[in-house]
Amino acid sequence: MSHLDLLDRALLEDLAPSTQKELLEQALTDHQPPDNRRVFVNRTLRMEKIRFIGFDLDWTLADYHQTAMSELAFELALERLAHQFGYPEEILESKFQSEFCRRGLMLDIEEGMVLKMNRHRYVGRAYHGRRFLDNTERSSLYRQEPIYPSSKRFVFVDTLFELPEVNMFSELAERKRNGLELPDYGTIYRDTRNAVDSLHGDGSLKSKILADLPRYLPRDPKLALALERLALGDRKLLLITNSEWYYTEGLCTYLFDGVLPGLDSWRDLFDLVIVSSGKPNFFKKSIPFKRLDDQGDEVEEVTTPRWGGIYSGGCRGGLMHLLDCPGEQVLYVGDHIYGDILSSKMSSTWRTALVVRELEDELTVRKELTAQQRHQLVLRSELVDFGQRIDDLDDILLLLERLSKEAAVTPGNGAYLQSMERLRDDLATLRQEHKAMRKHAGRLQRRISTAINSFWGSLFKQGSNKSLFGSQVDDFACLYTSRVSNFSYYGSKHYFRVLQDSMMHESVL
Ligand code: IMP
Ligand code: MG
Repeated sequence: MSHLDLLDRALLEDLAPSTQKELLEQALTDHQPPDNRRVFVNRTLRMEKIRFIGFDLDWTLADYHQTAMSELAFELALERLAHQFGYPEEILESKFQSEFCRRGLMLDIEEGMVLKMNRHRYVGRAYHGRRFLDNTERSSLYRQEPIYPSSKRFVFVDTLFELPEVNMFSELAERKRNGLELPDYGTIYRDTRNAVDSLHGDGSLKSKILADLPRYLPRDPKLALALERLALGDRKLLLITNSEWYYTEGLCTYLFDGVLPGLDSWRDLFDLVIVSSGKPNFFKKSIPFKRLDDQGDEVEEVTTPRWGGIYSGGCRGGLMHLLDCPGEQVLYVGDHIYGDILSSKMSSTWRTALVVRELEDELTVRKELTAQQRHQLVLRSELVDFGQRIDDLDDILLLLERLSKEAAVTPGNGAYLQSMERLRDDLATLRQEHKAMRKHAGRLQRRISTAINSFWGSLFKQGSNKSLFGSQVDDFACLYTSRVSNFSYYGSKHYFRVLQDSMMHESVL
């Protein structure tokens, strides 16, 4: 146990009510996280320097059951398409395909495709409906001209809330491909978006969730423990969510009240609650706060909130008047790569932690396949060396051929011609071997990638490159981890340190 952890323990002895002590003690002794529950570091962060931590709610503190949530939104939105947008009733037969829908994908709403790009904007995989596009089709669509992911043609899947849309879009594209009369892909996308948007906006999705919370939301005492631990010392915790007050109250009551001995109300966990925060604009614009009473009714409009209150709307600028500290002393923890992480990073010096639930399963699979991954790396490097030797021989042969043409062939240089012939044969054999090796490497790569996800492979990688999503995580998230409760394994002043931020030329393989 590190001395920082011991310091935490000493603090706990002073502060924690005795009933909580045992649980907290257990969390402290249990201080090595399982491999798939670690917090990963892109940019060094000393928690000791962090005075305020803001938390997003949905998919961050509220770690929904992914399939149950997505299925619910998928079914409700399809009903809306059929009954309010005039789509054919057949679409209601569609089933949510949890394996197919992933965040980090892109929709091409002109062509009806779902794609995955690497960090160089190279489209590595694409499906039209459920049909996988081969290399030729992919390259004719996406490799003739540069791709602009931020153009209107493409939609990036930033959050788990968008998975039902991905599924609806591809399902409808598949049905259109099979002859069902449907509008063009752009209209399909916009109708789908509006259907999902209205489900969130009019409360119909939320009322179903609140009516059956255990079905959609796990309750994990370790989450409250993590927050208690992070709040040690004089650190203050804030809730900053786009959800409305009634929903925030319903979710947090279920998640926290009574989950730990002595924790009677979730309000005790947070020093400030900001609902309907309107991220990403919260980070970018200047918007007043509305103070709410405990019933969620508006009391007054203010530019700066006060500790202990509940507010709606607002902005980072107004909040910073209250925090009165450099931005780098604030950590924001969220799940939305754009709305929570990229936007806060681009408009402030706040530090960021991304919650990315998919990481957990991916790490589990990667651990099971460690031997294959090592083998794959070695094989890749051998393939490059081998290929280079073939290229060298090829050039030698070309040179020899040119020389033999230039010099008149006389009876004396018959041996020379023979050795050229032998070289040609050797090269053909080597090429065969290289091809077999490439096939083997391809099979191995597919096995690893399919074990992670049979349609898309890794969320963070595309082939041997980082995926576009992976590179955004790399660039904008100081920390990333699969769940907020993983912080319960780390001391409240933990030094999250980058051990190696290496460049290609530093590789030791
Ligand atoms: P947060 O992640 O805690 O900031 O909250 C996300 C909120 O955004 C939830 O209340 C969602 O219902 C809401 N939300 C997610 N997607 C949409 C949408 O497409 N339209 C409107 N609201 C949305
Ligand atoms: Mg969220």
